[in-house]
Formats: sequence, structure tokens, C-alpha cells
Amino acid sequence: MKDINVISISGGKDSTAMWLLALERDTPNLKVVFSDVGHEHPETYKYIDYLEKELGPITRIKPDFTQQIMRKREVVDTKWRKEGISEKIIKQALEVLHPTGNPYLDLCIWKGRFPSKMAQFCTVELKVRPMFDQIYMKIFEAGDHAISWQGIRAQESKKRSTMPEIEDTPEGYTIYRPILSWDVYDVFKQHDNHGIKPNPLYKLGMGRVGCMPCINSTKEELYEIARRFPEEIERVARWEEIVSKASKQGAATIFTSDHRGHGICDVVEWSKTTYGGVQYDLLKLMEEVPLCSSQYGLCE
Ligand code: SF4
Repeated sequence: MKDINVISISGGKDSTAMWLLALERDTPNLKVVFSDVGHEHPETYKYIDYLEKELGPITRIKPDFTQQIMRKREVVDTKWRKEGISEKIIKQALEVLHPTGNPYLDLCIWKGRFPSKMAQFCTVELKVRPMFDQIYMKIFEAGDHAISWQGIRAQESKKRSTMPEIEDTPEGYTIYRPILSWDVYDVFKQHDNHGIKPNPLYKLGMGRVGCMPCINSTKEELYEIARRFPEEIERVARWEEIVSKASKQGAATIFTSDHRGHGICDVVEWSKTTYGGVQYDLLKLMEEVPLCSSQYGLCE
């Protein structure tokens, strides 16, 4: 039985630093995996290609929700009718219940909604389950043992600060968190030491990379995304129209509708306001978009 060291990379600074650490230690049987959720910024896809060229092969995995969408078509055609859902809603749902090949969008079409802070099914459906089915199961079937390297740091949150460095899971694999005690400067130093550029999004004002935007984005992060990458907001606004059609209520938004409005465009407008959301923050709006800015001091 071999130990297979699985390194899941996101294109972010921590997982890249962890991969570099594994290479530094000449770790045997490395398997580096990128789970493509279809909701990342194009720069992140380019960065994954760059890392592969510089550091070695990456296995790309992609969840597929074709079967779930096809099953939902049947449910809409039968159960929804029995439940008395209007023909207009049924017709528009059937119109969009086709797989698009984009995992994030297909997941939302299947569920008829976007994930939310209260129902964060995206992590399990887009990352945890595909990793398990497409990577770990194969390792188990070959009779090997998997060590899952996780690039998390104690400083990131209270919850993470209590996590152990090594943990055995009931599923039979081991979790290893080798950069738990690192701070953010150690992480960027690791890039420097190996001559590897960090994801360029960090120099474009992003505090984290991954889904753009993540459902957990802060007001500031959303404001920054909207002013630098309006095309990403437009993409999500188009997705909201599609997912709304797949919903029984005929409406779905990436951020819950509340005092901030309905739909991502309203929430972006809210992100431009001062505390309380009633007045535009004029100082913020007058600011030019800096060509290069980073929350981690990468621009000095
Ligand atoms: S980054 Fe955010 S939106 Fe993407 S899977 Fe994770 S929690 Fe969900």
C-alpha cells in the first residue's frame, strides 16, 4: 500500500505555497488536483496553466450535473403539474433545464436556486464530492492510502485555529495541514523563494481568489469585483435570469433579496454606499481604479 499525497489547488496563494512546500521536501507520489467549478475569473484559469508549466502536472476535475438536470425535467413535467404550478412557470423551467457544461450554473439550474450562507451546498457539490468520487475513490480502489494536504492557516479564522495538523477521517484517509502555523507573509515568501508569481488577482485588489463572486463575499470585495471586473457581474446577472426560470417561484438571486435589493446589480449598487446603505459613498466613487493594489503589500 502506497501513500498518495493529494494536493488540491485553487489558484490561490495558500494552496500554491503548500504545493511548493511539498516539492521542496521531495514528497513522493504527489497528485495535484484542480477542481474546476466554472465560476472562477479567467486569470485564475491562466494561472493554473502557468503553475502546471512551472511546477508539474495538474489533474483537472469537473463535476457534471447532467443526470440531476434530466431527472428534474421529469419532476417538473409530472410533480409540478400535480402540485398545480402554473403552466407559465413549468414552460419556462423546461426551457432552461438543459445542461450547459458549466458546473456552477448547472448546479443552480438543477437546484432552482443559488447556494447561500444558510444553504452552502456549493462546497459539497462542486468541490468535496467530485474530489471524493473522482480522486479518492480511485486511490482506495487501487488499495492505496490517501493523504489530503489542506492549505489552511490558523490565522484565517477561529475555527481554523483549533484544527489539528494531522487528522484521520472516518472515510479512511488522512488530512494533513502543513502550513497551519504560517502567516500570509510566509505564504508570499514561499512564492518568492521558488520564483513563482502569485495569482495576479492579488495585485488587482482581490483578498481571495476562487468563485467570483463567492456567496460569502463582503461588501468591500463585491465593490472591488464590480469596479474591476464588471463583466463578471454581468455574467452572474445573466445566470440569475436563467436560474430564475428553473425555480418554482420564478425568481432566484445569488445574494438573498433583502434591504440591499433584488439581484446582483442591486447588491452592487448597495456596495457603493456608506454604512447603512442609504447614501452613496462619494469618496469611494470618485477614487480611480488603481492599476495595481494589493491587500498583502505585493505592490511595493
Ligand atoms: S468559493 Fe464560495 S461560492 Fe465558491 S464553492 Fe466556496 S463557498 Fe461556494
